Amino acid sequence: MLEKKYKVFGTYRRLSTPNFWRLHYLGVYDKVTLIPADIIDSRSISEALKKSNPDEIYHLSAQSFVGASFDQPLYTSDITGFGTVRLLEEVKKYNKEIKIYQASSSEMYGNVNAKVKNENTAFHPSSPYAIAKLYSYWMINLYREAYDIHATNGILFNHESPLRGLEFVTRKVSNGVAKISLGLSNNLKLGNLEAKRDWGYAPEYVEGMWMMLQQKNPDDYVLATGESHTIKDLVNEACMVAGIPTSKVTSSKENFRPFDVLDLKGDYSKTNKKLGWKPKTTFKKLVKIMVEEDIARWQRWLRGEQFPWDASTSGEDSHVLSRKKTK
Ligand code: GDP
Repeated sequence: MLEKKYKVFGTYRRLSTPNFWRLHYLGVYDKVTLIPADIIDSRSISEALKKSNPDEIYHLSAQSFVGASFDQPLYTSDITGFGTVRLLEEVKKYNKEIKIYQASSSEMYGNVNAKVKNENTAFHPSSPYAIAKLYSYWMINLYREAYDIHATNGILFNHESPLRGLEFVTRKVSNGVAKISLGLSNNLKLGNLEAKRDWGYAPEYVEGMWMMLQQKNPDDYVLATGESHTIKDLVNEACMVAGIPTSKVTSSKENFRPFDVLDLKGDYSKTNKKLGWKPKTTFKKLVKIMVEEDIARWQRWLRGEQFPWDASTSGEDSHVLSRKKTK
């Protein structure tokens, strides 16, 4: 957005330990204006609107981890579901001309029986996260139709980069194999290796989000690569890049979810036709980017360098118990 000469405001939650490493990593911390706000608090949203007077809003705030939503279903509903309505209500009061992007999710399809998923596929959400996102999806549609607000849903399939949080499988793998390759760790324990995901490169998806808001009319759009791979494929590829044997990566029942989405593969043909968008980075290239970046970071860390980063301070999560399947 800065490259496109936008004046960028970002909201952040006040935390005892600030979490701005990504802004530092991108070198934009000083170039954006930060406003404290919380999607749980309507008044803070209203303040943020007054302070920024925006033309476009990219609503990405959420409890965004599917796994955690099984442990915190009510919190997830409040943040990921009601949060969107709090924002829509404040926009309706403040200025109905503001364009809104809603981060809808491929998780909303869940285990629906369709080979590829597009804007016409029925939803069958399979986690508290997905249900909260679907609630937001329909609210965006409602405010579009009932109040004539330019509110758009981007239905994004998994999009990854070296900035991905460590709890997500791509980054868990890239960080884990990087540590093993440098002798900093012995093994990596994952969960369900058979699940398939359609993984794309996040920067291209962000460009797509912007393209959606440049359209005259609001709509719903899928962003995906049209290819899906198993977690096992991801592990094989990552181990190859890191030069370690795949036997170092194992699957443990503790890391399985109570219920998992087995296969997600998106059909982005409508987006391609209407916006001219298409993905560029292949699965192999994406894995290479992420693994090489994490190896380089751990090498810098070994040399004693200081730089914005999450992994060296996050600790291991192998002792963290998540909710077990109760059936
Ligand atoms: P999601 O698609 O938004 O849930 O993204 P994730 O990266 O969290 O998970 C993608 C898939 O990887 C899911 O099917 C998980 O069950 C599977 N998976 C297997 N092992 C792990 C693991 O150790 N961590 C995470 N996060 N996912 C795992």
